[in-house]
Amino acid sequence: MTLRQPSVGIIGAGMSGLCQAIMLRAAGITDVTIYEKSHEVGGTWRDNTYPGLACDVPSRFYQYTFATNPDWTKLFSPGAEILDYFSRATDRYGLRDLIRFGVEIVDASFGASRWRLTTGARETASHDFLISAAGVLREPRMPDIEGLADFDGQAMHSARWDHCVDVTGKRVAVIGTGSTGVQLVCGLADSVSRLELYQRSAQWVLPLPNPGYRSWTASLHRRFPALDMMAYRGFHRGFEFFARALVEPGWRRTALAAACRANLRTVRDPELRRSLTPDYQPMCRRLVISPGFYRAMQRPNVHLVDTGIDHVTPRGIITADGTLHEVDVIVLATGFDAHAFMRPMAVAGPDGRTVDQLWADGPHAHLGVGLPGFPNFFMLMGPHSPVGNYSLTAIAEAQAGHILRWIQRWREREFDTVAPTRQATDEFNAGMRAAMPGTVWATGCTSWYLGADGTPELWPWTPNAYLRRLAQDPSPRDYELCTELEGTRAP
Ligand code: NAP
Repeated sequence: MTLRQPSVGIIGAGMSGLCQAIMLRAAGITDVTIYEKSHEVGGTWRDNTYPGLACDVPSRFYQYTFATNPDWTKLFSPGAEILDYFSRATDRYGLRDLIRFGVEIVDASFGASRWRLTTGARETASHDFLISAAGVLREPRMPDIEGLADFDGQAMHSARWDHCVDVTGKRVAVIGTGSTGVQLVCGLADSVSRLELYQRSAQWVLPLPNPGYRSWTASLHRRFPALDMMAYRGFHRGFEFFARALVEPGWRRTALAAACRANLRTVRDPELRRSLTPDYQPMCRRLVISPGFYRAMQRPNVHLVDTGIDHVTPRGIITADGTLHEVDVIVLATGFDAHAFMRPMAVAGPDGRTVDQLWADGPHAHLGVGLPGFPNFFMLMGPHSPVGNYSLTAIAEAQAGHILRWIQRWREREFDTVAPTRQATDEFNAGMRAAMPGTVWATGCTSWYLGADGTPELWPWTPNAYLRRLAQDPSPRDYELCTELEGTRAP
C-alpha cells in the first residue's frame, strides 16, 4: 500500500511548533508549512528579552531529546542562549524554508476534509491537518491602571522589552511579582539607581542555585554524548519528585514548603520579611525559583512597595496612600492571558461551530491536544497540559509524537478525519476536575492557573502519568473516525 502524503499546517514557530515540524519531517512527511506571524523563530524566547531572563527548568532537561546540546553554560541558562538553541535547531533541521514568516493566520475553517486558512493579508491556503502551536503565555496582559498612557517616561511590558531604553542609573518601577518580576529585580538591581517592586501578592521563592558549567563539561559531553541523556533522565526523575509535591499532599510538599519558608527567613528586616510573606501555601501559585531575589530585595537601592497603585501621573506612580513615586521607567511584569491559546485566530469546525463557542465555559480539550467537532485539528500545549514548573519540551515532544501517530494512521488510509468524541472529552475533563482538590493549586490562592470558575486548568496528576497516557494506543470508543465514502465508523 502506498502511503498518502498529508499536507500539514502548523501555527507558530516556537519551541513546540518547531518540535512538531522536525518530527513530521523525520517521519517522511514533506508537505509541512509553519505560519509564524513574527519574523524569527523562538516564540516566548524571542518575545521575552528582559534583563535577568532565564529558564527555571535546567537546560539539560529543557531541550529536545533528539537534539541535545553539550554546550549549555549554566544549570538554568539565560534566555538568549535558549533562543540561540532553538534558532540553531531550526537551521540544523532545515526548517527555515518551511516557515512563512510575517504571516498571521486569522481564520481557519474545516470543509471537504480540509482546513482552509486565511491570512491577515487575505491569502488562503489549505491543509489536511492543522496543528496549533501558538503557545501558552503569548498575549501580554496589560493592567488597567489609570493614567498609564500619560506617563512621561518609558512604560513597557516585560515581554516587549525596548532595548533602546537605557535603564542604567535610572529610577525603575517593576509592577508584578511573578517569575518575571522576580527575575527582573535580580537582573536590574545592579545597574539602576533605584528600583521599586510593586507587589500586589507576595510569592514563595525556592532558592535553587544556578552554577555555571565548567569549560571541560562541554568537551566531556561532546566526547560522551550519552551523558546528555543521562543528565536529561536525572533531571526528569528530580522533576517527578517536584511534580508529586504539587499533585499529592504528603512529605514532598511539606519538605518543599519548609525550604521556601527557610529561604524567607534569610530576609533580616522583620518588617520587610512580613511584607514578603504570602498568605497562601507554597506552590499554590507557580513556584518562583530564584537564588538571589531576597538578597536583591535587601539592597539599599531596592524597595518593596506593597501599598496598592492608585494611578499613574506623567511623573510617576501614585499609591493608594497618596504618595507620588517619581520614576523614569515603568516595567509591567503583569503576566499574560493564559486562556487565549490560539485565539484571537477564529477556528470553526465543519458545522460552523467555533472554538469560542465550544469554550464558552472555559478552554478544555481531550488529552490537551484534540477538540470534539474539530476534525484533523490538534493543539500543542493545549488546555490542561502539564505546564506547571515542568519541562515544556518534554511535553511538546510527547504531544507531537501522539499527533504524528494519528497522521501516520491517516497516511495508511484508516480514515480521512479524526476527532475525539464529545463524550470522551467530557469524561476526561470530569476526571480531571474530580482530582483537582488533591492538588496544591486548589488550596486557596489566585493565579493564572485558575479558570473563570476558579478550577485549576492544569493536569492534576504527575507529568509522567500524562506522558504514559499520550503514549498509549487511543481507546477506539473515544474517537470519531470518518472516511469520505463510508461516513463515520469506529477505528
Ligand atoms: P504572573 O505570574 O501572572 O504575575 C503577574 C504579576 O503581575 C502578579 O504579581 C500580579 O499580581 C501582578 N499584576 C497584574 N496586574 C496588576 C495590576 N494591575 N497591579 C499590580 N500588579 C498586577 O506573570 P509572569 O511573572 O510574567 O509569569 C507568568 C508565567 O510565565 C510564570 O508563571 C511562568 O510560567 C512563566 N515564566 C517562566 C519563567 C521561567 O523561568 N521559566 C520566567 C518568567 C515567566 P497578583 O498576583 O496579585 O495578580
